[in-house]
Order: sequence, then C-alpha cells, then structure tokens
Amino acid sequence: MTQTDLNALRAEVIPPKGHFIDGQMTDAANGARLDVISPIDGQVITTLAAGGAEDVNRAVTAARRAFDRRVWAGQPPAARKKVLLRLAELIEREALALAVQGVRDNGTEIGMAFKAESGSAAGTFRYYAEAIDKVYGEVAPTAENVLGLVHHEPVGVVGAILPWNFPLMIGAWKIAPALATGNSIVVKPAESASLSILRLAELAIEAGVPEGVFNVVTGKGSVVGEAIGLSMEVDVLVFTGSGGVGRRLLEYSARSNLKRCYLELGGKSPNIVFADVKDLDHAAKVSANGIFRNSGQVCVAGSRLVVERSIHDQFVDALIRHARKLTVGDPLDLSSDVGAVHSKVQLEQDLGFVDKALAEGADLALGGKRILEETGGFYMEPTVMTNVGRNDTLNQQEVFGPVLAVTPFDTEEQAADLANSTVYGLASGLWTSDLSRAHRMIRSIRAGVVHVNTYGGSDGTVPLGGVGQSGNGHDKSLHALHKYVDLKSAWIQL
Ligand code: NAD
Repeated sequence: MTQTDLNALRAEVIPPKGHFIDGQMTDAANGARLDVISPIDGQVITTLAAGGAEDVNRAVTAARRAFDRRVWAGQPPAARKKVLLRLAELIEREALALAVQGVRDNGTEIGMAFKAESGSAAGTFRYYAEAIDKVYGEVAPTAENVLGLVHHEPVGVVGAILPWNFPLMIGAWKIAPALATGNSIVVKPAESASLSILRLAELAIEAGVPEGVFNVVTGKGSVVGEAIGLSMEVDVLVFTGSGGVGRRLLEYSARSNLKRCYLELGGKSPNIVFADVKDLDHAAKVSANGIFRNSGQVCVAGSRLVVERSIHDQFVDALIRHARKLTVGDPLDLSSDVGAVHSKVQLEQDLGFVDKALAEGADLALGGKRILEETGGFYMEPTVMTNVGRNDTLNQQEVFGPVLAVTPFDTEEQAADLANSTVYGLASGLWTSDLSRAHRMIRSIRAGVVHVNTYGGSDGTVPLGGVGQSGNGHDKSLHALHKYVDLKSAWIQL
C-alpha cells in the first residue's frame, strides 16, 4: 500500500448506487435517494437508493424464490465451498479498493481498515467455506429398533442488519456462515457505510453465488431495517448495532413471525491493570491503542481503565504519553494513526459525554476537543478523563468515541465489582503477572471475552459475543454456524 495508490483510489468518482436485488443493481421503487457524506471532509461523495418496504419485499421475494428452488441450498457443501473460496480470492484481489471505499464513507484509518475490513473478510469467507464440508449430522444414541437422525438444515431467508463500523468485517461474520450453510440473505448495511457491502454482493455473483441468494437493500434503518424486521418471509435476523435498535428488532419479531433474533450490541468494556503488571509501559501503549484506534468506534474498545491505585498516576501518565504520539487526521493519509469520527452527530455526542463527565466531577487529563475543523471533517482528540466514579455516566454509558474513563481500585474484589458494574458484558482486559489471579478474574468478570496481558485482537477461531445487554448471539468460529441452521430430527422405526 503506497500513498500514491491511496491517492489514486480516493480520487475515483463513485457513481450513484442502487440496491442489489436478484443479481442486479436496481433503483428504489419510489426513486428516492440518500446522500453519503464522507467524514473525511464532510462532503457528499455519492448517493444511495433510499429503500422502502416495497424494495425489501422485492429482495425478500427473490431470496425466498432462490431458496425454494434450491439453486444454492441444494448444491453439495463441497460446491458451495468452491464458490466461497473464489469469493475470498476476489475480495483479496480488490482488497485495497474495497478498504478505501469503506474508509471514504466511514472514516476508519486505512491501516486498520485494510487489515480489519478486506483482509479479515477474505479470511472469514475462507474459514466458513473450508468448514462447511466438514460438519456432520448426528445419529442419536437410541434403542436398537429405531434410528434417530439429526439433520442441520438451512433456515431459509436470513435478514442481516449491519452497523457502520467495520461493515465488511462484521458483514462477513454474518454473510459467510449464512451462505456456507445454504441460506439466502437480505443485507441492510448502515446508510453511512454501504459501499463496500454493495461491491461484495457484485463479487459474490462473479464468484458463482446464484442470483437472488445474496441481496442488499440500502436506506434508512427506520424504514428498510423495520421492513426486514417485520417481514413474514425472513426466518432469522442477525444484527450488530446499538441496544436501542436491538430492542426494536425483538419487537418486530414478536409483531410478525417470531423470527429468531441474534443481537450483537454495545459495550462499556473494562481494562483492568494490576500493580504487578509485567511491563507497565507496554500495557499503557496497548491500552491506549485499545481505546483510541478508529477513534474509539470499536465495539470491544477498552473504554474504562480500571487501575490499581498504587500505580494509577504512573500508568495514566504512560498512557497519555502514548496517546499523544497518535496522529489524528485524514484516514487515507498513511501518516495518520487515527482517522475520523464517523459523523457529525457522533462527534457532537462524544463531546457531550466530555461535558457531562466534567459536570459530574471528573477531571480532563487529555484532549476533549474537536480538531481539524477547517478540513470540514469530523475529528476528535484522544481524550482521557480521570476521577470518574463507579456510577457516573461516563462509566455507565457507551460513548463509541475516543473517550477513556479512568477509575482506581484497591483490591481484587473492587476490581471485579467495577468490571461488572454496568448493564453490558462484551469485552474486558486484565494485566497481571499472577497466573492464579488471572484465572480468578477470568471467572469473576461477566463478559464475552477477557483479554489477558493484551487488549483486543483475536482471529476467526474464537467466538465474539456478549452477555447482559451486550447481546445474545455469537459471531465467528464454528459456534456461529448454529444461528443459520435448524435442527430437524428423523425418528425411524426399524
Ligand atoms: P445502530 O443501532 O444505530 O444501527 C445499526 C443498524 O441498524 C444500521 O444499519 C441502521 O440503519 C439500522 N437501524 C437503525 N434504526 C433501525 C430500526 N428502527 N429498525 C431496524 N434497523 C434499524 O448502530 P450503529 O451506530 O450503526 O453502530 C454502533 C453500535 O454498534 C454501537 O453500540 C456498537 O457498540 C455496536 N457494535 C457492536 C458490535 C458487536 O460485535 N457486539 C460490533 C460493532 C458495533
């Protein structure tokens, strides 16, 4: 990746985009369009079809038809594997272009987007492609005169509603296992991060996924997302996004066909540092990256630093030193470590959290302001707030921005209590040289993942999901496959 490549790709004009339904780019039935604003400079870079219920209906009908005709579901797993491996190759062929397109609409720094978006999406398609011809049904341990078989059948039509952060990575976590197991899918990307998903749907056709199997409807969540949620023909809904929208999806399900809903929601993840941390400076550097990369817009971001009182000042100083080294700026400039906040609304919300924390008695130790306003883009300084109380807003509510809350503790019990003091339970981290303590803490922290002596970073072999109000499903690993299949038993009298 060179700056010249990036400059060439960013200069490309992005033509207006339609939905992708039944293998074709198509306009919204009512012709409505939506602007895509780049957080890099606040400019409109293209427009999307602003879908309505009629468009969702067209997409779901195409998906159902493809499923009922068994054009994909009826193919042997080894054949689906071949197609999905080809799709992984096509993603790799276009990795940089896909990543840049994604950065232009969502603002993630390109270094991270290249790895976490196209790189990870290709890996995810490859993982599920490779897995699918190795998953067996079961023979039940019955009496001799009967045979009990357990089949894993595709559910039918999957609705996938995606967030704007890491659309390709998170999209692939859902689309790849759904397709590998033989389902059809209707994807609704976030209105501000649809471009790379639309391109992915085109590449899927090129790889050999039959028309109608992989559809994308763009537009507003409250319109397109609601229509998918209420559809009587969508069998399973998979979602990543905020808790508020997650709750709505459960309501849509209850008001329609009781479709299963798997929700991956927000977090307020604690990063706990004990005084016996082996390398304080290294831990401070990783912790700074764990909250500030992608401007804190990472669901597992370590947004609460819970640090043993005896090293509190030393650790906070080290973390601030590393945070100051992060260059915030144009996400397509290779010299930037941190890109843009995704939208003006998000930026205003992030700044509002700083004001609220100050009003509640916290101290501003670093940052706290909008920067680079002259670019027209949405940028914010890495921000550290100390002296944040256990129940203060900044320790309780997800910011989804570059704002770190710091709280000291004195005992292991206090650390565990602070870790578990929110309604969330997505990720966590702990730093210690004491193996027994690490295992005790892994047991006591209520979270989907506990990072030990590191923060963030995992691969597709382990599940990602939350407990509490962080969600009820898991993406990644073989465990994700169960969301996309129904169990069917056959009871055969011999
Ligand atoms: P969001 O909930 O605002 O939007 C997510 C999606 O839902 C978008 O496609 C949006 O258009 C759609 N939507 C909005 N209103 C809807 C409605 N009424 N009905 C149906 N769909 C609707 O979330 P976001 O701002 O895009 O993403 C940020 C959130 O996602 C944060 O809370 C973050 O923690 C969470 N997240 C979680 C994970 C995870 O793995 N748990 C990963 C990434 C992001």
